[in-house]
Amino acid sequence: MGEIRRVYTRCPLCGQIFRAAHAGSYITVGRDTDLCPRFPGRRFDAARLIRSEITMCPRCNFASAEDFRELDLSFDERYDLEERLRGDGLLRIFRANQPPWLAFHAAEICGQERRLPARELGDLCLRASWVCRKAGERAFESTFQLRAVRYFMRALDNEELEGRRLPVTTYLVGELNRRLGHHREALNWYVNAERTMQAVGRMAWLDRLISRQSKLAREQAA
Ligand SMILES: [Zn+2]
Repeated sequence: MGEIRRVYTRCPLCGQIFRAAHAGSYITVGRDTDLCPRFPGRRFDAARLIRSEITMCPRCNFASAEDFRELDLSFDERYDLEERLRGDGLLRIFRANQPPWLAFHAAEICGQERRLPARELGDLCLRASWVCRKAGERAFESTFQLRAVRYFMRALDNEELEGRRLPVTTYLVGELNRRLGHHREALNWYVNAERTMQAVGRMAWLDRLISRQSKLAREQAA
């Protein structure tokens, strides 16, 4: 299992200085079909490791996957972020026991206020669904999968996804739909993913994944 280092960090929103957890190098042993990395060792450690990709301020709850030192927030952004974080129901309810997905939720709402691309917001929700699975939180896993699907679809409609990101994102919309029980929808998206892959060049691993998951979705849909 990888180690977690603690690094002094300054919150770009409220100025609080705190020690943030950062994952050092770690080994993975393959990936799940929604690309969630598998780690040797205990599931809970895995949740902690994925969680450490996000830095969250313990005072104001500002959160981001980016390095805090590189964030420069404008006056308007600060105002909107403070309001949004103060008014958020989930942060208020879960602040005390800090489930591992909470930091992703905080990063998502901060990302919305900062107008991050939908692909990035989708990635945050996808990662949140991974930590929920590793932590055994099924209901929240589905909630975040659904949110990831919505962001990814918005990204496919409105954003320029470079190279391999296009077929991978399309595949993920299919796979998350399948996991949510929408098998017919999933099958359509797998076909789309295959088509977009032809445009950027064949990716053997994705090709294999698409045919295996299509077969599974067809069986589940029957
Ligand atoms: Zn703060």
